[in-house]
Amino acid sequence: APNLKIDNLHVSIEDKKIVKGFDLEINGGEIHAVMGPNGTGKSTLASALMGHPKYEITEGNVAFNGEDLLEMEVDERARAGLFLAMQYPSEVSGVTNADFLRTAINGRRGEGNEIPLMKFIKQLDKKMDLLDIDQEFAQRYLNEGFSGGEKKRNEILQLMMIEPKIAILDEIDSGLDIDALKVVAKGVNEMRSEDFGCLIITHYQRLLNYITPDKVHVMMQGRIVKSGGPELAERLEAEGYDWIKEELGIED
Ligand code: ADP
Ligand code: MG
Ligand code: MG
Repeated sequence: APNLKIDNLHVSIEDKKIVKGFDLEINGGEIHAVMGPNGTGKSTLASALMGHPKYEITEGNVAFNGEDLLEMEVDERARAGLFLAMQYPSEVSGVTNADFLRTAINGRRGEGNEIPLMKFIKQLDKKMDLLDIDQEFAQRYLNEGFSGGEKKRNEILQLMMIEPKIAILDEIDSGLDIDALKVVAKGVNEMRSEDFGCLIITHYQRLLNYITPDKVHVMMQGRIVKSGGPELAERLEAEGYDWIKEELGIED
């Protein structure tokens, strides 16, 4: 089963320390949520894990299925089965959604093991259906003129087609209406299996009404300060973050 083990990770941007001693282990079959106030380093963590060159890792280790993730190139990470929603360029002219997906899937499968076209089309049809995505959507250019909700739906379609081992979904719920939120949740829930682990990064609890996480972690000032079950997310929704700051004596 897949495993992502983040150990004492420190990340800086332009010499500013942002992530400061982040620890988390995700196994196949598990969905973890990381919640936290704005500016606490959640997106920095996600980008650093995907190997974004702007984010400098100054300390710590990350093992992905026992291999040193930090030594892997960005495309190697994707090939090994790590997925970050929003890792894709916002608009790519001349590339249709279907082209993009097929390239991404084949990149992950490797040379000589490309997905047969008919099989690809069948899977795409089935998954677009499940996510309530219009057929013509496949032939549209990637992200060109997509609404916010369409982009998010498309990211979940990518997730379902690429079938990564571990996915990091950063604010996949932001700006979504309830219908789009339910579709996103449906896709993630459909992915649930022993062969798939997921990290949901979110500011709000509402997505977690539709995707029940196994563990909820609160991130503040660059690290996890509290962990619990789904009830922790509910308390954050009701009471905000101040009680945790008080409990831990954190100033901001
Ligand atoms: P979160 O996702 O928890 O809201 P971020 O990781 O986006 O937090 O940001 C954490 C801190 O890092 C903030 O102070 C932000 O201003 C800073 N930061 C994030 N990205 C960059 C960047 N590309 N360049 C400079 N500073 C950044
Ligand atoms: Mg933010
Ligand atoms: Mg963020």
